[in-house]
Amino acid sequence: MRKFSGSQLLVATHNSGKLEEIVALLTDRELTILSMKDCNLEEPAETEATFVGNARIKAHAAAQATGLVALADDSGLCVDALDGAPGVYTADWAETPTGRNFAMAMTRVHRELMDRAAPTPWAASFACTLVLAWPDGHDEVFEGRAYGQIVWPGLGDRGHGYDPIFLPDGFTETFGQMDRWEKNRLSHRAKAFEKLLACFT
Ligand code: IMP
Repeated sequence: MRKFSGSQLLVATHNSGKLEEIVALLTDRELTILSMKDCNLEEPAETEATFVGNARIKAHAAAQATGLVALADDSGLCVDALDGAPGVYTADWAETPTGRNFAMAMTRVHRELMDRAAPTPWAASFACTLVLAWPDGHDEVFEGRAYGQIVWPGLGDRGHGYDPIFLPDGFTETFGQMDRWEKNRLSHRAKAFEKLLACFT
């Protein structure tokens, strides 16, 4: 595995919720973290059918455009009774002409479960794939998953995205009810980060 020893890292996301979590997960490192906004970068189209494929597109585009080592996250919610949907289309389910609407997206998850008369508990997982890409084209891939179930109605107004409807296994609060530190101990992103940090010198 190639080690990362730089002092600057570009985080290749426009998602402010993800960026905030990533900055918190890297807080103990002596690193200058740059965002896409800092570098004036547009997010490329995610045209692959896998988390790793889309994370690679984002990380390599950012590394090529800036000459910096870039970290991208592709993540999503996978609901067992929906055959893994929304999966790589998790962000798309929230898309509207005026921006992302997660209340609508969470309602769709619930509606599709009801349409299928899926028996409870509605097992689900959040998946996170991190790709660290170097300007010379090399990359390293790290994956993490958090298991739990979908609850309805959603609970809590913390976090971001689909957090209110995800109850992690072994806990009594949804990701939307937990404080950021607690979520960052057990989330899919935290698990992928544990592996990523092993590659930092
Ligand atoms: P993408 O990785 O930018 O394609 O989008 C991932 C989608 O999954 C976004 O809609 C996020 O809001 C959602 N998502 C990813 N991680 C989380 C999480 O930790 N909590 C809630 N939603 C998430």
